[in-house]
This record gives sequence, C-alpha cells and structure tokens, in this order.
Amino acid sequence: MAHTVHVKRISEPQLKKIYAGLSGKLPKGESLCGLYDHTKHTIYLADSLTGTELEQTFLHEKMHCLLESAGKQALSDNEGFVDLLSELLHQSIVTAKGAA
Ligand SMILES: [Zn+2]
Repeated sequence: MAHTVHVKRISEPQLKKIYAGLSGKLPKGESLCGLYDHTKHTIYLADSLTGTELEQTFLHEKMHCLLESAGKQALSDNEGFVDLLSELLHQSIVTAKGAA
C-alpha cells in the first residue's frame, strides 16, 4: 500500500489508447476524462480538464486507486459507487475550504 501514485496529464486520444490496452475494449460513447492504471500506479487526466471538472475527475480516479489498494476490486468496478464517494469527498473538501 506504500507505493507512490503518479499523476499525468495526457490528450484524450492517448487516454483512449491506454484504456483500450488495459481493458481490451474501447471506451463507451461518452468522452474519457481520466483513468487509473494499476499496473503503473498512475492516474491519467485529460489535458483539456480544468477547474471543478479536473478536481472531480482526479478524486474519481483517486478513489479507484484507494479501493484497489485496499483490495476492494468489486467496489472499484462499481462506477456508481466510485462516483458517489468521490462526489461526496469533493463536496466535503469544497465545504472545508469555504469554512476556512
Ligand atoms: Zn471510474
């Protein structure tokens, strides 16, 4: 659990290529903003992302990373669960910032 996780900004076509290589399938219709590659301990984020979208995508991918580090692969595979937790985390960080 002690390994470093890298974060890289790359183009969306590069993201899709890595996604296809990891999962053996093409990403679903909608655009791909981020990805966690557990084999390289790297979070990839689309270089087009900014602001809130960037923060939320980072936290979403970070949640995959944490769940997989904790051995909770089934939870990490549940995109709805990952979305919910990362949105709650984002909200709590924004709220904490506002309270400072
Ligand atoms: Zn996801």
